[in-house]
Amino acid sequence: MEDNFIHKGKRRLLKELMREKGITDEAVLEAINKVPRHLFLDSSFMEHAYMNKAFPIGADQTISHPYTVAFQSELLHLNPGDKILEIGTGSGYQCAVLLEMKAKVYTVERQNELFKKTSKLFRKMGYRPTRFNFGDGYLGMPEHAPFDGIIVTCGAAELPQALLGQLKIGGRLVIPIGEDPQIMTLFIRRSETEFSKKTFGEFRFVPFLDGKN
Ligand code: SAH
Repeated sequence: MEDNFIHKGKRRLLKELMREKGITDEAVLEAINKVPRHLFLDSSFMEHAYMNKAFPIGADQTISHPYTVAFQSELLHLNPGDKILEIGTGSGYQCAVLLEMKAKVYTVERQNELFKKTSKLFRKMGYRPTRFNFGDGYLGMPEHAPFDGIIVTCGAAELPQALLGQLKIGGRLVIPIGEDPQIMTLFIRRSETEFSKKTFGEFRFVPFLDGKN
């Protein structure tokens, strides 16, 4: 679990790269600077941890590009203490970024292998999501709704309607929608029945799948 000055130096550069690419939320940039991304990758990929790259994390899944993580985190417009639902815990990196931003994170992963691996890693690193469930995120977490924000980190062929209903008024859903590539989409709940929608260009994610595995 080493985090030495070389890792820290590379992280500072990654943070500056995110700034150059257009991320402006200082809390997001600081979280990128804090989370030791190399510990979320298998040690054989260690040297790539601070490049703007996606990587395999087992069970055919990938850790998202740092820029994608920063971009989605920024779209949430987080305030400390906000209640955030993440669909697709994967390596746990995105969740750790949200925790460093002082969010209360509820996260769900459908691959048991990753769920077990990431549970262990969170314990070792001291990251504490409010809830970490093994299950299908398609239905959200109705028992813990409503949320200030929901972030989907896998590509949804279409919008899972259940998620919209789990937002507070003013809450934000950040979700990549489409087959391949996906279009990053932001929904904001304006009232009980009204939502606004804005799109932010193409991204590539592993698929949002039904059921658990
Ligand atoms: N946020 C992750 C990204 C991992 S890739 C990270 O920072 O590493 C997307 C993840 O979504 C994969 O782990 C995949 O297993 C998971 N996933 C796909 N469909 C899902 C579903 N229906 N419910 C929960 N997780 C899902």
